[in-house]
Amino acid sequence: MKKPKIVILGAGYGGLMTAVRLQKLVGVNEADIVLVNKNDYHYETTWLHEASAGTLHHDRVRYDIRDVIDRNKVEFIQDTAIEVKIEEKKVITENNEINYDYLVVALGAEPETFGIKGLKEHAFSIVNVNAARQIREHIDYNFATYNTEEEKKEERLTFVVGGAGFTGIEFLGELTNRIPELCREYDVDYKKVRVICVEAAPMVLPGFDPELVNYAVAQLEKKGVEFMIGTAIKEATEDGIVVAKGEDEVQHIKANTVVWAAGVRGSSIIENSGFEAMRGRVKVEPDLRAPGHDNVFIVGDCSLIINEEINRPYPPTAQIAMQQGEVCARNLAALIRGKADLETFTPDIKGTVCSLGEDDAIGVAFGKKMYGGKASFMKKMVDNRALYMIGGPSLVLKKGKFNIL
Ligand code: FAD
Repeated sequence: MKKPKIVILGAGYGGLMTAVRLQKLVGVNEADIVLVNKNDYHYETTWLHEASAGTLHHDRVRYDIRDVIDRNKVEFIQDTAIEVKIEEKKVITENNEINYDYLVVALGAEPETFGIKGLKEHAFSIVNVNAARQIREHIDYNFATYNTEEEKKEERLTFVVGGAGFTGIEFLGELTNRIPELCREYDVDYKKVRVICVEAAPMVLPGFDPELVNYAVAQLEKKGVEFMIGTAIKEATEDGIVVAKGEDEVQHIKANTVVWAAGVRGSSIIENSGFEAMRGRVKVEPDLRAPGHDNVFIVGDCSLIINEEINRPYPPTAQIAMQQGEVCARNLAALIRGKADLETFTPDIKGTVCSLGEDDAIGVAFGKKMYGGKASFMKKMVDNRALYMIGGPSLVLKKGKFNIL
């Protein structure tokens, strides 16, 4: 009998977890497993803000996919998926067409600009290793150039972060840690640097414990961040942004660096392939399959699951993507063995920790609030755990964070 072919698109948290769990669960004779990813490396998306600020080298946030998969069981193809032809059960990639019997879509997220004019063209987004490297180099370039110009341009030293959610706050923590170092390196007066966080919502880190949020804001303000809360970015231009608080208070802020961190949507491949979706995210069945498509699983940021307690979607996180990968692998193993009863996915939220730089953080873990060094230690443990779950102790030793004192 012909072996079923399982194709996994994306080797991020969701896709790679599916692959490494599946290779343990399924025998070589039971299925062909193909993993497709744009790059030959996996990157820790949750560390990209560090690479973007330049506090962690981009090589530290990535590792070779072939090092963590069992190459006897999983064929890795480096290619870019373009579209899924659902009816024909095939994936169109930049270089090929790949047929499948079962498909896992784990292509992650893209920035959501909510139609704000100029953002796509003039703002950076922390989306992958290449983007992170570009942001870091752009920051360095502006510091390096400031003193070489006769007419000093304050916009070279003005950094705007759009969004005071998780990604925005974590990036601000790293950026404000890096700035004193950049000032020393490029002979720039620290007082001339401005770091502004613009947030349309009336609060920082919505959903987080207010006491912890106050701590985070105070810590970042101490490091020079100016918060503009309840203020919307109306437009990004070649030389900065236009913001508005209410109807009338419109302001133009000159800034050479604008980093948009206020929203993501699922991969555009989801909608381009005809899956029914909300902002690129498919509301999956309890067993993680796409409604109406019994051979297609969707995990990670391309999936949408509802928190029944509050009747709102869970925010997309690496924690959920990895847990989905585990369930998806078990469900695929069940399906190829002809079992009809699939496991229901229920997120097990162990906590959330938001870093405020390498040495500080806030968080709630196992029901306990924490901040400062303790939370920062916990954050590194969470980061190391993600490595362990995919590649075991050897990956932790190679890529782990041990600067924990
Ligand atoms: P990803 O892990 O992003 O992986 C997607 C993969 O698909 C990548 O390897 C990409 O190269 C590949 N890919 C994309 N398009 C294609 C294509 N067309 N063809 C082939 N391959 C493709 N979550 C937390 O739980 N905790 C945190 O502390 C946290 N911090 C974050 C900090 C930052 C700066 C960011 C940006 C996100 C953070 N998140 C955090 C969210 C978390 O990173 C995502 O929810 C998680 O990465 C989603 O996993 P995924 O598998 O869906 O996508």
